[in-house]
Amino acid sequence: MNNFTYHNPTKLIFGKGQLEALTTEVPVYGKKVLIVYGGGSIKRNGIYDNVVEKLNEIGAEVHELSGVEPNPRVTTARAGIEICKKEGIEFLLAVGGGSTIDCTKAIAAGAKSDADIWDIVTKKVEAEDALPFGTVLTIAATGSEMNRGSVITNWELNEKHGWGSPHTSPKFSILDPTHTMSLPREQTVYGMVDIMSHVLEHYFHHTSNTPIQDRFCEGILRTVIETAPKLLDDPENYEYRETIMLSGTLALNDMLNMGYQGDWATHNLEHAVSAVHDIPHGGGLAILFPNWMTHVLDENIARFKQLAVRVFDVVPNGKADRDIAEEGIMKLREFWTSIGAPDKLADYDIDESTVETMAGKTVQVREEYGNFKKLNKEDSKEIYQASL
Ligand code: NAP
Ligand code: FE
Repeated sequence: MNNFTYHNPTKLIFGKGQLEALTTEVPVYGKKVLIVYGGGSIKRNGIYDNVVEKLNEIGAEVHELSGVEPNPRVTTARAGIEICKKEGIEFLLAVGGGSTIDCTKAIAAGAKSDADIWDIVTKKVEAEDALPFGTVLTIAATGSEMNRGSVITNWELNEKHGWGSPHTSPKFSILDPTHTMSLPREQTVYGMVDIMSHVLEHYFHHTSNTPIQDRFCEGILRTVIETAPKLLDDPENYEYRETIMLSGTLALNDMLNMGYQGDWATHNLEHAVSAVHDIPHGGGLAILFPNWMTHVLDENIARFKQLAVRVFDVVPNGKADRDIAEEGIMKLREFWTSIGAPDKLADYDIDESTVETMAGKTVQVREEYGNFKKLNKEDSKEIYQASL
């Protein structure tokens, strides 16, 4: 392992009825509150009314920013920043999924800066401070509820970038699994693919002696694989929702990568696809991840074999290591297909014509990307071609 310091400042408030905690958590930070939410799912499922009721109980002055897009846009963050500055907002409350939370992080940082938020997202300027914010999570997927990361899209430039700052961890996050019961089937699936992808991004590295971290990763993967089909058959089952919700947070709250750095090439590849085609993040990952794996397999066959044997129960039975590793990749693909995730870019009507453009976007910030194996534009093209 490498040396590390672990400090995650987000208070996790988990379980049925935990929305009540808003009445004690929010007043710590102020009474002028901006609620940030997406396209209206929280109005349809009643979460919005419950949140507003709690904020009214504590006499908060409530402002609103609605319409945060899946793949949240910098224009929406700018609108939120303007409200914060104009109204003297003291606290932000994101109610929704990763998109709403990521947008809230951008608003929080932008509200405390004179720079344009896109310059912060593209790392030209550092966020030096941020408004405090909390989250009420409504989809298990990104882990954004307990990390500092945010992914913002600039639709004018067709760019989508991840950024983060020590100031952009939520103060608290309320995770009530019942809040995820109204999710459409495909969003539940995309969320589970994203969770597994975060674990897989961690899993592929070259640092020695990470047996605990490996077992944590494998445990989460096995748990999601076991729970996913049961949840899809019984979407209102509290315990399955609970299991998936906690998996999502643990997959990306920096606990799994203590002492080493994960890969993250596939997220970079997916962001480039979304930047051009605005597809769901989890859908893109399901298409790309197995193809990234095949592309980099020879970098460390033993690692892929370990995944195949320990997570996908491939029986070695005298087979060559490479064959075992490939069988594991195939089983990952089969599992995602079995729960209804897409497996080729054509599923989103993406064809060869934008491969060059997308590949260019994967190397826009750095000429090479990925930590397990350094990839360049040619690699991006090959992986996209294999994904068509
Ligand atoms: P999302 O984009 O926040 O939400 C997806 C869709 O699900 C929206 O249409 C939303 O509708 C709907 N939805 C959410 N909760 C619902 C509920 N309880 N019932 C019914 N519908 C509901 O999904 P996400 O996967 O969490 O976030 C994806 C974004 O996060 C991408 O931009 C991705 O790149 C980014 N990301 C961030 C991180 C990170 O660490 N920060 C990591 C990975 C990915 P409404 O809009 O109407 O609410
Ligand atoms: Fe992700």
